[in-house]
Amino acid sequence: MATPREALETRARQRAIDQDVSIFPLAGRNSREFLSQSVYSEPGAYWQLWLDDTSQPHCNCPGFTKRQSCKHVEALKMHLYEAHNREESKSKRAASIASLMELF
Ligand SMILES: [Zn+2]
Repeated sequence: MATPREALETRARQRAIDQDVSIFPLAGRNSREFLSQSVYSEPGAYWQLWLDDTSQPHCNCPGFTKRQSCKHVEALKMHLYEAHNREESKSKRAASIASLMELF
């Protein structure tokens, strides 16, 4: 059974997907600081997101401040996961090309 915290995160993730929440890294590929645009509550406003020393994501929006969970943090987690997978498949591809080259 899902804990209340997991249920909260699942709902936040669904909102992040439904509302197409975008994440912008502030300092390139290995950035630990990000921005997300507020779409509904304050159009035009940006929320600040960052990873702490243990790589836990944080957000300065009211939702996260209250519940330690929000759609921005969930969007950030998906963003980081996708970026990680992209890097992974790139290095896998490089490795498989390298092993192919050995055959010839
Ligand atoms: Zn947030």
